[in-house]
Amino acid sequence: MKQGQYLSQQVKQYLWPQNNVQTDHPSCQFKADKQWLDLQYHTDDKIKKPDELEHQMESPPELADKKQLDRIKGSLIGMALGDAVGAHVEFRPYEYLCQNPVKDLVGGGTWGLEKGQFTDDTSMALCLAMSLLARHDFVPYDQLVRYKWWYQYGYMSSTGKCFDIGAATRESLEKFSRRQESFAKNHNISVKTLDFLSDTELLETFPVNCSSQGVAGNGALMRLAPVPLFFHENPETAVEFSGISGRITHGDTKAYDACRYYGALICAALKDYEKSDLLDKDFYTKHKHWFGNIPLCDEIKKIAEGSYQKGGGYQDGIRGKGYIVNALEAALWAFWSDENSFEKGVLAAVNLGDDTDTTAAIYGQLAGAYYGYKKLPKEWVKHVYAKQFILNVSEWIAYEGKKWNETEGSTSSHQSQPEPTYVTTPNEQKSFFQRMFAFFNYASPTKHSAPPSPCSPQQKKKHRSQSTDE
Ligand SMILES: [Mg+2]
Repeated sequence: MKQGQYLSQQVKQYLWPQNNVQTDHPSCQFKADKQWLDLQYHTDDKIKKPDELEHQMESPPELADKKQLDRIKGSLIGMALGDAVGAHVEFRPYEYLCQNPVKDLVGGGTWGLEKGQFTDDTSMALCLAMSLLARHDFVPYDQLVRYKWWYQYGYMSSTGKCFDIGAATRESLEKFSRRQESFAKNHNISVKTLDFLSDTELLETFPVNCSSQGVAGNGALMRLAPVPLFFHENPETAVEFSGISGRITHGDTKAYDACRYYGALICAALKDYEKSDLLDKDFYTKHKHWFGNIPLCDEIKKIAEGSYQKGGGYQDGIRGKGYIVNALEAALWAFWSDENSFEKGVLAAVNLGDDTDTTAAIYGQLAGAYYGYKKLPKEWVKHVYAKQFILNVSEWIAYEGKKWNETEGSTSSHQSQPEPTYVTTPNEQKSFFQRMFAFFNYASPTKHSAPPSPCSPQQKKKHRSQSTDE
């Protein structure tokens, strides 16, 4: 695996002279309005890690409602905690964990991390959060750019390097890089400059779905939280963007639907739902209007109807595997059976074995949102790597999410509480689905039960005309 802690001096000077982004192409003028969102380096060429960006951060002009903010912080720190607790036994099978159960947050193990350091799950989630904050919107292209920065340069990593990446994510990010090269060539733009693509029309023509049907790893779900946390005031948008955020690297319908369903649950937690409502076997039926016109596929619907509510846990078939259906079921099982203890839920998720950090990170996103930051185990929280950075990011997510809802959200289909009979007006539908169409270049999603494959004949034709890598 190749990762760069260092960029070549030539590339770095071109892209970030004195830590200031400069671009020379009229279509690539994007610059974040906050320095801490940028990819930055020390004078000795080492990348600036999240905890080294804290001093650049100010609080947003307004702080969100305390309870909301507590839930947002709880979700992000909860994810980082699950990730960190599971990291040292990642890949260990269930049998090993039966003999050597994890009982606490410790360092070392699989990756040799320090106590509290996180892995790819939280790094990618922070990349996603940085993108939402930098673009003040949901821009899949920019999300992929930041994931690429993580993969290649160690952006948002707890160690300054990408030391672990899932096969599907790597394949998608390499495909994205190849598409960027083709796109740059076709539009006569320097490939380095293309990371700062700002021209809206050009942005809309970039094929961002870098995966295909059959790719259903848990990598789509492990980084999800920033999307529902940012868009929670508008659940329909949050659910749809949750699905899309996963699909750009994991193209299977099951990945798309797992992200939509879990995004809906995180939204509901932000809306102060009771735990019994979140675990309600009829949650999906009661909130179908959040899911637009696209029903959940059978595998995810089964989970939504309570397949995870099994007292025997592993003995009843609950698995902490990399398959997204297993991962979603396992995380929900941990939440269902945690007896209102975050600590107990994380340990249960980790002790299922296999993809321990990711199962627990997924659990932590929802459980942290539900229990809130103040109820997370303090002995663990104080060890979370870059804790202050993540807390500051939480404040900005709350602030920017609210601002987005006041402007863009008003043209979408916002409803604050469940209204089963809710139907968007033709104008709202037009606005919302036009956005989707523009980003993903495929036919209206209103007439199919599953998201169209990026490999549909229509898309293949489109991709061929835009990219030479397929
Ligand atoms: Mg991981």
